[in-house]
Amino acid sequence: MPELKPAQHCSIDRLVCIITAVSHKPTGRLIIMTSPNHTALQIQIIPVTPLQQNTSLIWSPTSGEGVFIDPGGETQKLLMAAKQNNVKIVAIWLTHGHLDHAGAAAEIAEITGCPIIGPHKDDQWLLDDIEAQGAKYGISGGRNVTPTRYLVDGDELELGGHKFGVVHCPGHTPGHVVIYNKQGAFSFVGDVLFKGSIGRTDFPKGNHQQLLDSITQKLWPLGNDMRFVPGHGPMSTFGEERASNQFVGDAVLNRS
Ligand SMILES: [Zn+2]
Ligand SMILES: [Zn+2]
Repeated sequence: MPELKPAQHCSIDRLVCIITAVSHKPTGRLIIMTSPNHTALQIQIIPVTPLQQNTSLIWSPTSGEGVFIDPGGETQKLLMAAKQNNVKIVAIWLTHGHLDHAGAAAEIAEITGCPIIGPHKDDQWLLDDIEAQGAKYGISGGRNVTPTRYLVDGDELELGGHKFGVVHCPGHTPGHVVIYNKQGAFSFVGDVLFKGSIGRTDFPKGNHQQLLDSITQKLWPLGNDMRFVPGHGPMSTFGEERASNQFVGDAVLNRS
């Protein structure tokens, strides 16, 4: 569900600043260098809903095909972003079942005809509760989701010839997955990890120790250089978080 702690948020302006700084482009696009022999993937991060959830639009400029990761709301704004970049949406990838990450998935799938891939089946109870949660939190328009396909640890996804790995990272929610591109050292971690913080575990079926284990045993092995787009707030790298994160930094966990 929503991450309401101020430390886990940044303003749209700040996020756009960070993206621009990384990409050196005024459009706010990032470029993922997936291989010197391949055309790079492109990514645009679009904050949606009052919770400023980071929806990612990633696409291959060669094929023109793209996916939305965690389309949490504001369907028209997201479809407009795809249109402006001449992207045909071929799939929706979900990291977990919370409203602010999955709320627009059913509507976009209906409009584009694309499949919904993920999260792990253990989040279906949350996907079934999106409409009720929306009413509770005053966020309208979200629809319950039935994925076309669930994800499990070790699965592989593909976009424009580029491979993405999947790791199951329970703790924030039981069915949370992280999606990463090894060659480009780029990942989408949903609400598992934030710059300077970690996901909340005080919701039903949250588990703090499980979340710590997911981060240290599933994410850290992907490498210190791995950049990540969190569900909320600015980007970071696993190495930066190991060095400074007050919840899962090496020093905090007594690892040097
Ligand atoms: Zn969440
Ligand atoms: Zn969230």
